[in-house]
This record gives sequence, structure tokens and C-alpha cells, in this order.
Amino acid sequence: MYTDLQLHIDGEWLGGAGRKGEDVVNPATGKSLASLPHATAADLDRALDAAAKGLKIWAATSPYDRSKVLRKAADLMRERADHIARIMTMEQGKVLAEARMETLTTADIIDWMAEEGRRSYGRIIPGRAPNSRLMVIQEPVGVVAAFTPWNFPILTPVRKFVAALAAGCSVVIKASEETPAGCIEAVRCFADAGLPNGVLNLVFGVPSTVSEHLIGADIVRKISFTGSVPVGKHLAGLAAKGMKRATMELGGHSPVVVFGDADPEKSAEVIAASKYRNAGQVCVSPTRFYVQEQVYDRFVKRFTDYAKAIKLGDGLDKDTTMGPLANPRRLDAMEAIVNDAKSRGGKVVAGGKRHGNQGFFFEPTVITDLPDDSKLMTDEPFGPIAPIVPFKTFDEVVERANSLPFGLAAYAFTSSSQTATKIGDAIQSGMIAINSAVVSMPETPFGGVKESGYGHEGGIEGLEAYTNKKFVSLS
Ligand code: NAD
Repeated sequence: MYTDLQLHIDGEWLGGAGRKGEDVVNPATGKSLASLPHATAADLDRALDAAAKGLKIWAATSPYDRSKVLRKAADLMRERADHIARIMTMEQGKVLAEARMETLTTADIIDWMAEEGRRSYGRIIPGRAPNSRLMVIQEPVGVVAAFTPWNFPILTPVRKFVAALAAGCSVVIKASEETPAGCIEAVRCFADAGLPNGVLNLVFGVPSTVSEHLIGADIVRKISFTGSVPVGKHLAGLAAKGMKRATMELGGHSPVVVFGDADPEKSAEVIAASKYRNAGQVCVSPTRFYVQEQVYDRFVKRFTDYAKAIKLGDGLDKDTTMGPLANPRRLDAMEAIVNDAKSRGGKVVAGGKRHGNQGFFFEPTVITDLPDDSKLMTDEPFGPIAPIVPFKTFDEVVERANSLPFGLAAYAFTSSSQTATKIGDAIQSGMIAINSAVVSMPETPFGGVKESGYGHEGGIEGLEAYTNKKFVSLS
């Protein structure tokens, strides 16, 4: 059973009556799952009014009481994890185990932010005059407009709005029209947990129309967006017009550096598992593999064996280890990348083509011998294609790894603590994992540098993204 697709405004679930609809498609079959109602302009205004009212109620609720509601939502999400995971797989394609893990991780994020909201400390600065107090207090930034994509239908929306809620803000969120049910089910957990009406509102529609409407509204004081670099730049421009704060989590093209002193087989297994997670449709997916010459052949062999052993299929089937791409645009993009790589001398050593004639499946692919200026090495692939190239020296690989305008995540493997420190310092990225593939946890900051965006989600930084600092001088 899929979800009854609805908007959520001022505590009310609103269906299709009188609203234009759009089909949501199962990427494993290419068939429609249900029709999604688009919010009308009047719906958007109503959501903004509700958020204004919700802000008054929620900002006046103590962090202690807010935290109780949020933790209850996390408990409900855990109870409903099996159901939520199934509908996420149906609409997005990822395998059921990944969808379940995403749901449980999201519940952990809620718990962490619920607690952190209780620790939104200010500080007291010694006054210059006797009996004076100089205080810094944190206040909720106000009404937040959030926009999220289709690759993590529940984790990405919740990571945004739970930090805002923990800080005392209200929210209007537009989740992806391609994977709406994940966010609908998440919002349902919060509504059922007792979040007051109007505090969290969910809308869908034509992305450019909805974002212009919401970002243009005076009441909105903060924008948070996850998605592609061009759309992020556009929305950042709209936010700047109204002098609104913004968090931009945009694309990357994450380098992986495997040094000659690392175990090539072990690192290949760790990083290949990360590469093909969610069919490579992850903003921090490892995407450019630089391997030092002396371990290059062994790394390529183990990585390629891993790719060839992956079982493609419907994510609901228990034997499947990689599902389809989320939409047909990604299939076209994969074909263009492979054709460009081949025309530039690239050798396809695994996969390389579309799989089957139903749904949006693309084979786990490995390409070697391609130049640094090929499309695959310069444009974020956002799919299951891995380019692997050799390098000779530390300085050379740092220059190549830092050569792109992006800086989200990076990975390195080495057995030398000195090399680990040096590469950690040298790479231009918001996050780097050394000897693992983990760059995201509830308690750690997540965000990029350069064109990968600005601001953070997660960690104490994720909460501060939704607070204003006010200086109070008491004499
Ligand atoms: P896209 O640029 O059209 O859309 C990306 C996301 O932004 C989608 O969720 C879309 O609904 C939303 N969007 C588009 N225009 C918008 C607007 N004017 N206002 C508000 N939201 C808007 O691309 P796409 O085909 O969906 O994905 C392609 C590329 O996007 C990928 O190759 C990848 O680089 C990037 N992407 C990044 C992430 C991420 O997690 N950072 C997620 C999804 C896609």
C-alpha cells in the first residue's frame, strides 16, 4: 500500500479536490503510484499564515516541552519504520534495507536535535560597570521555507525541519514532487506526536513557482535548500533580495585518494559499498577515485569485482542489492557520461549500459583510463558510475583533487598518521573521512565549501542555523 498523497496546512490534511495533480512514478516499473495534489496560490498563502500563527505558539513553548513532542515523533517513526521504508522504496527505488536504515537514522536525528534544542545556550559577558550584565541569547530565526530533493525522501526534509523546530521556528516545507510520501509520513509522525497546528506545513507544486512564492513572502526569514548548484544559486539570489538567511546544501564531486600504503582490497570494498549506495544518487557519494600507482591494479580489481557482484532489481525484492535510478533524467545523464568517457579513451571495465527495458535501471559501472577533463571527472555523476585513475605523488593528487569548483565531501585511505593529517589539511572540502566512508552523523556538522554551498546541518551548527543571536545589555 502506497500513501494517500496530501498537503498538510495548519494541521489539516488536504487532498486533490480542486487542485491540479501530478503522477508519482515507481522507478522500478515506470508505472504511476498515485496522483499528487499541487498547492494553489491560496494554499501557499494559507500555509504562510499558518506558519506565522504557529511561530507565535511554538516560540513561546519551552525547549523542554518542545523536546517532548519531537522525541515522541521519533518514537512513532521507529514504530512505523517498516511501513515508511516500503513506501520510500516504491517511490524512490532504493533497496528496502537502505530505506529502513534511512528511516531509523532519521529518528536518531530527531532525538539528537530534540535534546540539543534544550541546550541552546547563550552566554554572559562581564559588564564594564558595576551591576551590569552583558548577555547573548539565542532566539528562533522565525518562519523557515525549506526545499528538498528526491534522493533521501525522509532524512533530508526532517534534518532541515527538526533543527528549525528544535530552535523554536515554524516551517513551510516543499519536499520533492517525485518522492512525496516519505516527507508526508514524516510530517504525520510529528502531527500525531502533538505538534501544534501551523508549526509544520507541507506543500507541493511546480518547484520554481512555490519557491518564488514562499521566499518572496515577508514573513519568511530563513531559506534552506538541498539540491543542484544551479538551483541553489538561483534560490540564494531570491533570498538575498529579501536579506534572508540561507543554508545551501548543493552538489559535490567527491574525490577519493588511496595512498600506496593503504590496504587496496579493504579500501576498495569500503568505498565501493559507499559508491553504489542509493545507486550513487547521494550528494556525498565518492565520485572520483585517485589511486597511487603501486596499488592501482589491486584496487581496480577488487572494486570491479564488487561492482560486478551487485544484484540489480526492484528494491522490494530481498535479493536486490541496488535498485533503479530515481527518474529517467538520471538514465539519460548516465548514458551521456559513458559515451563521453568512451570517446575520450575511457575503458569500461564493468557495466556501462542501461539494464532491462522496464524502469530506470543502470548497471554498476567502472571506467578507467580516462582524462581529468572528461565529463565524468568534472561533472557530478549522481549515479552508479565510478572513474578510477592512477597518481604518482602527494602534491600531484592534491592539485587534481582540488581542481574542481566543488567542495562537499572527500575520502582518503592511508596507514600513515602523518599522511592522514596532511591530506586532511590539504583537501578543500566541508567534510573528509579518512579510512572510512562515513561523513554524516546526527552529532556532526554537514555542509560544503566553494560551489557546494554554505551553512551546516547536523551538530550544534545545525541548530544554530535556525537561531538569531541577540545581545542584551543590562545596567
Ligand atoms: P534539478 O536541478 O532540476 O532539481 C534538483 C532539486 O531541486 C529537485 O528536488 C527539484 O524539485 C528542486 N528544484 C528545481 N528547481 C527548483 C526551484 N526553482 N525552486 C525550488 N526547488 C527547485 O535536478 P534533478 O534532475 O532533480 O537532479 C539533478 C542534479 O541535481 C543531480 O545531478 C545532482 O547534482 C543534483 N542533486 C543534488 C542533490 C543533493 O542531495 N545535493 C539531490 C538531488 C539532486
